[in-house]
Amino acid sequence: MSHNTPLISTVVVGLVLAFILGTLAHRIRVSPLVGYLMAGVLMGPFTPGYVANQNIANELAEIGIILLMFGVGLHFSMKDLLSVRKIAIPGAVVQITVATLLGMGLGHLLGWPIGGGLVFGLALSVASTVVLLRALQERRLVDSERGRIAVGWLIVEDLAMVLTLVLLPALAGILNGEAGQGADLSAIAMPVLVTLGKVAAFVVFMLVVGRRVIPWLLHYVAHTGSRELFRLAVFAISLGVAFGAAILFDVSFALGAFFAGMILSESELSQRAASETLPLRDAFAVLFFVSVGMLVDPAIVLREPLPLLATVLIIIFGKSIAAFGIVRLFGYPTSTALTISASLAQIGEFSFILVSLGVSLALLPDRGRDLVLAGAIISIMLNPMFFALLDRFLAKDDAKVAAKATADKAVPRVPLPETQLSNHVVLIGHGRVGKVVSAALRQSGTSVLVIEDSPGLVEQLHKDGVEVLLGNAAAPDMLQAANVAGARGLLVAIPDAFEGGQIVAKARALSATLPIIARAHSEEEIAHLKHHGANVVIMGEQEIAKAMIAQIGTGAVATA
Ligand code: AMP
Repeated sequence: MSHNTPLISTVVVGLVLAFILGTLAHRIRVSPLVGYLMAGVLMGPFTPGYVANQNIANELAEIGIILLMFGVGLHFSMKDLLSVRKIAIPGAVVQITVATLLGMGLGHLLGWPIGGGLVFGLALSVASTVVLLRALQERRLVDSERGRIAVGWLIVEDLAMVLTLVLLPALAGILNGEAGQGADLSAIAMPVLVTLGKVAAFVVFMLVVGRRVIPWLLHYVAHTGSRELFRLAVFAISLGVAFGAAILFDVSFALGAFFAGMILSESELSQRAASETLPLRDAFAVLFFVSVGMLVDPAIVLREPLPLLATVLIIIFGKSIAAFGIVRLFGYPTSTALTISASLAQIGEFSFILVSLGVSLALLPDRGRDLVLAGAIISIMLNPMFFALLDRFLAKDDAKVAAKATADKAVPRVPLPETQLSNHVVLIGHGRVGKVVSAALRQSGTSVLVIEDSPGLVEQLHKDGVEVLLGNAAAPDMLQAANVAGARGLLVAIPDAFEGGQIVAKARALSATLPIIARAHSEEEIAHLKHHGANVVIMGEQEIAKAMIAQIGTGAVATA
């Protein structure tokens, strides 16, 4: 049966196994990523039992990359990208060079020809988009300066890899030929120029045509009022542009999707577009890790322990020390340098593509590919650990900074710094309801702390000098960081009563006496929120009705 449905069985077995092992990993306090990778190893050809279709798994992973990069583009404007170019371009170039040289050195020790070492080194030099973005998103860092630098860096690496993939076949002859004398320069120069020309043509096309057509299309669909069509439009645009970019301009899927998102980021519909892609994006990102796991032969750990160790050390330390040095050299603080280093201390999808190309061009021995694959899985597994160390370091740093810092601090980090406020009002959501409430409270001199998960609104609140935490109030540690237990009251002003219920229950667990007022739209929601511990629940529709009755009672309608 499963032979006839390789796509379905790959998706289903992949997701189910990833779910089981991811949950187990979480249970034993390891990153779920490790579980997803293990699911891949179990489904791969090197372990007994079911073997999934690798090509299908790779393509599914590619969809994950497209949706992720589209999401990043939605938070990124052209201005953001240009603002980090001064560090991202030289940073990425130097770091790629250092890592490549280290890889070539190791290749030399292992007795490979120079071409093999070059492919090996390049494969070690480029970080995985998915791993990097997942780490930044988990820590809500994408919108911070450090996050922007890391993403800009990633884009430069991506471009460098697009160039490498095009150049490698042209260079293979020269690298394989012993002397390489008499190499025709135009054989190298032409592909470079053509590729750069195509990338430039794509960017110009997107800025001139895409910038007009895509937002217009999305606005048009939004006005039809059909949620389904809007959702479809978002997927059609992200996947369509990525695919079109790859077919027509030979640009990577990731780069195409990033530009599609970036063009939409100026539209006020970008937030909605981002939330529409979230669930699918997460599912496909999981399949990405499964597909990586499938490539790896676990026996290599016993077969080649020392070369593998050296490979892992280059990925983890070689690259990150180089990146750290460059970022510091540009005058950025240690925290920024460490975040970039931790982000880059892993390799992923581009490395796989590169090594398979290297092997097929007879540049790289099979052994080199196996080392890169195993190095990838180990570095991806270790990556969350580096971020945990970074968090610990930054927490200490934060404590020092907090003493003199004012409220205009950037996006909060994990672990969240706890507020100094007490006897304040904690307000969840700063939309139509929350902003009216907070204005009135502030006017009356009450101190307010807002929790809001829309970055745009949080930025505005920062500017207005309001203390605010960015993120989902239902997320762990959020309510503690807002010192709900020491507050005089909690106002849950978000429209989703299910999420509201989770928040209320968490707050009630922190304090039995805290007055909690929540927002609802139906009788069932009122019951739900009260059941979880809300003292008072206000139903918007009832209040609208009361106000309407009051209006007609005053005779306002007759005189209007
Ligand atoms: P409105 O319905 O216009 O009052 O908007 C509700 C606001 O609450 C929006 O700005 C949302 O971004 C925000 N919001 C919704 N859910 C959450 C949540 N779980 N945590 C924090 N903010 C939220």
